[in-house]
Order: sequence, then C-alpha cells, then structure tokens
Amino acid sequence: MAIKVCKFGGTSMSDSKAISRVSEIIKAEKDRRYIVLSAPGKRNKEDFKITDKLYECYNTKCKCGTCAEPFKFIRERYQEIVDALKVKIDLKSYLDVIQKEIDESTAPDYAASRGEYLSALIMAKYLDYEFVDAAEIIRFKEDGSFDDVLTNELASARLSGVAYAVIPGFYGTLPNGVVKTFSRGGSDVSGSIVARAVSADLYENWTDVSGFMTADPRIIDNPKIIKKVSYQELRELSYMGASVLHPDAIFPVRLSGIPINIKNTFSPEDKGTMIVAHSPAHKADELVTGIAGKKDFSVILVEKSMMNSELGFARRIMSVLEEFGISFEHMPSGVDTLSVVLATSYLVGREDKIVARIIEAVSPDSIVVHHGLALIATVGHGMNAKVGTASRIFTALAKANVNVRMIDQGSSEKNIIVGVQSVDYEATIKAIYNEFFGEN
Ligand code: ASP
Repeated sequence: MAIKVCKFGGTSMSDSKAISRVSEIIKAEKDRRYIVLSAPGKRNKEDFKITDKLYECYNTKCKCGTCAEPFKFIRERYQEIVDALKVKIDLKSYLDVIQKEIDESTAPDYAASRGEYLSALIMAKYLDYEFVDAAEIIRFKEDGSFDDVLTNELASARLSGVAYAVIPGFYGTLPNGVVKTFSRGGSDVSGSIVARAVSADLYENWTDVSGFMTADPRIIDNPKIIKKVSYQELRELSYMGASVLHPDAIFPVRLSGIPINIKNTFSPEDKGTMIVAHSPAHKADELVTGIAGKKDFSVILVEKSMMNSELGFARRIMSVLEEFGISFEHMPSGVDTLSVVLATSYLVGREDKIVARIIEAVSPDSIVVHHGLALIATVGHGMNAKVGTASRIFTALAKANVNVRMIDQGSSEKNIIVGVQSVDYEATIKAIYNEFFGEN
C-alpha cells in the first residue's frame, strides 16, 4: 500500500464543518495514513486564528499574571468543534491543564503550540487514529536550530509500527523537553518531516487554494495555476514572495525526492500543484513557470576609477555588510562601479553609519544610496538554453513603458530578475504575465 502524508492548514480546520470535510477527504483514500494538522484558522475575515489568540494568552499572562480572559475564546472554539462532531473527549480537563501551564510558562512557544496539539487530539479521536505527539518525534538542538538527524531517527522509529496516526504540526521539543515551535506556518515543515520519516510516496499539503498561482492574484485577475514545479523553482518563487507553502518545507522531502501535492480542501477534485524533485519536461510553450516579486529594496552604488584592477575591493565591501549582519540580494558590477542590492529594512536607522564604513573600507570616488526598488523574478527551467526569453521580457517591459534599473540572470538560466522603481512594480508583473501566460 502506498503511503500518503496529509497536512491540513488552518482554514481546513477552522470549524466543525470544515473538519468533517477534512475527515471525508482522509477517509476517501486508505493511503492517507499520517495526518499532520494546523490549529484552527479564521472562520471569516473578522475572526481570529487560534494561534494568534494563544500568543495573546501568553502576553496577557505576562501582564496580568493569568491568561484566563483571552483563554475563554480558545475554550469556546474547541467546545463548538467537539460538540458538533460529538467527539468523546474530556476537553475541559485538557483545557484546564493548558491554561495552568500557560500561566506558569516562561516563553510563548508552549502556548502557541497548543492549537495544533488540541486539533490533533480531537481529530485522532474523531478518526479513531493513534495520536502521536510532535513533542516525542520532532527535536531542536540546544541552540534552537532544528535537529534533522535526531528527528528523523525518532520519527521513523515511533511511526514505523503505527499504521494510521494524527500528529500536531508546528512544534517539537528542545533537549530539555521544553516545547519549541517553528516559525509561523511551520506545520508545513512538520508535514514534510513526517513524510520523510515514513518514506511517503506523496506529501499532500491541503490548503484553501487550488495550488500555486503563476503570479500574485492581487495583481493579475485569475492567474493560471502552476501544474508542476520543481523544488528549485519553488524556492526561487517563495523567496520572492509567493506564499502558499512555508519556504523550509521543501528541505526534509528534498533529501528523499518525495513529491508534494498542494491541494484544496474546499475543491478536492482540483489537481493542484505538484512539486517535484526534478525539473519537469517543459513543452515549447512552457518557458516560464511563474512570476513573483517583492518591493522595498535599496541599492548602494559605489564608484571608483580603476576599481576592477583593485584586488579585494568587493571583499572589503562584503565584510562591511557582514559586520552589520546584512545579507544582500545581488551585486551587479561594471568596470568602475559596483552596486549592492539589499532589503531597505537593513538600512533603517543606520544608513549613514554603513555608508561611512564602506567609505573607510574602499575609499570610493562616490557612493550613493537609492531607495524604492522592486525586484521581480521570472522563473522557469524551461528558459534553460532557449533563445529569446530575455528579449521577450524586455520587449514587454519597454512596451509597458517600464524602465529597468537592474538585471540579474544566474548562469543556471532558470531565473531572470529585474529591478524596477516600486511604482512600476504592478505594471512589470502584468507585462511579463501577459507576455508568457496571456491569451493573445
Ligand atoms: N498555527 C501556526 C500558525 O498560524 C502554524 C501553522 O498553521 O502552520 O502559524
């Protein structure tokens, strides 16, 4: 029998109706054996995510000594779920223990993790699957970083004898047993960890959209869904702002090449997006897989004549960046110029200091900082060794009257990045989208 690991996100778990839909999906296939769950998300726009409320519980207990008041919301939400689904569980006892432990905790992680914990406990009872606590199988090192080796050992051993299990997402434990969470949206990572540990054939990630879009739907009306994308392409797109999956969720499955299928709980027949290890064979008309972008970048432009023959010039600039803990995006250079493209947030409140240090390090003829740059990545293995993709991008941008301030194409040819003024951000995405995905 094949093994599928299914992770369901917050919207899929938001109330009893959504949860019974989730259980139908699980039961529709015997292969759906390991279920990783998020905490209930928002039921409507005005609602609160359970995880946000749990952080509020921790903050309130820090201020007032107890989280009793905001914890009422947690009690009500889970009570509705348990009552409507008629799950036989002594919810009150669990909630009383959690409230007490939040009041005694010294970090927000324990509180934040309880949303997933309760989701999984209830679902395990509802489905009659075994509950396996993430605290037993997901480990962090003392310095807080994820311990992939130990986790894989523990999770494989614990799950090997269990045919059907429900596991809470988002958290694990430190060596001293204290709960620690991943960053927000981290249940995607937990799902991936479980998929690797049980050598799954497929990791299904169930959410509230039918896959990755080829471009941001806030800018493009009804963009096409990406049918297939490689891990690498997805990394590029997620890094540049496309969000559906936690960017770290790829690492555990990448090691063993397990595909991830993004599926829609509210439209389960949709095929969704398949994320695969190797670049799928592209048809001639599938040069580009997707487009993504981000605003709020700055450029530090350094000029010095004879720069290109001055050994160690770039290294000295890079050490200044390192000194300030800056990780830069791009470093395009000319004969006598070098630009550093970096997130504007790195410069806030210390731009003058950074500039002064660069002047000290390389004595440039001039140094200027420009703000308000947006970066847009056009991503696709299909571009590799094909003539004319860059020309299509730049012709489309010229027609849209967009001035390109910076260009960067890695030699892997899977990605062309353009830098434009932030005001041209949307026009750039529209022009590139219409060129490669438009109906013309
Ligand atoms: N519940 C957590 C969050 O809201 C983790 C997750 O849903 O993946 O970030």
